[in-house]
Amino acid sequence: MENEKKIIGRCPLCGGNVVKTCKGYRCENNTGEEAKCGLFINGVIGNRKMTDEEISTLLEKREIMLDGFATKEWKTFPTVLSLKQDGSLDMNAVVGKCPRCGGDIRIGTKAFNCSNYKDQANPCAFVIWRNIGGHLLTLDEVRQICNDGQTAEAVDMFREDGFKFSKKIGLSPDKLQVVKI
Ligand SMILES: [Zn+2]
Ligand SMILES: [Zn+2]
Repeated sequence: MENEKKIIGRCPLCGGNVVKTCKGYRCENNTGEEAKCGLFINGVIGNRKMTDEEISTLLEKREIMLDGFATKEWKTFPTVLSLKQDGSLDMNAVVGKCPRCGGDIRIGTKAFNCSNYKDQANPCAFVIWRNIGGHLLTLDEVRQICNDGQTAEAVDMFREDGFKFSKKIGLSPDKLQVVKI
């Protein structure tokens, strides 16, 4: 009956197969009392039902940026979910450091914002919109902008008249804004 299991990906802890179960996703080596591996990922995280594709990406890259998590009060929020070395999950809204002031850049529903935006003495208005020219920035691209000043590759974007163009996204020369370069 082995081939009737649904394999979602490879366990990053032990290399075994991760299969879909009624409650979530479990490493095949995580069975019995003397299990060799402790990997189990709940099918619902932060009041959000996970898809097989998302779990597959999480297993492969050890992290995934997702929208639609919800607090107990059903206020939704995006976050970066990461798989720690012991198999437990971590949620972290911080994706990098602000190139302008060094504060934390946090993911929001529409933009990546500097955490010092409310700072009394020295508020920072640095922002990276999540949607730029119809392109949704990936986690890697946001980190490239914060760390290297620009995306590693040009990305496809769209003009108002529908024409496609390709440019890198990065900091303006004064590092105050994010622009197409
Ligand atoms: Zn495992
Ligand atoms: Zn800042």
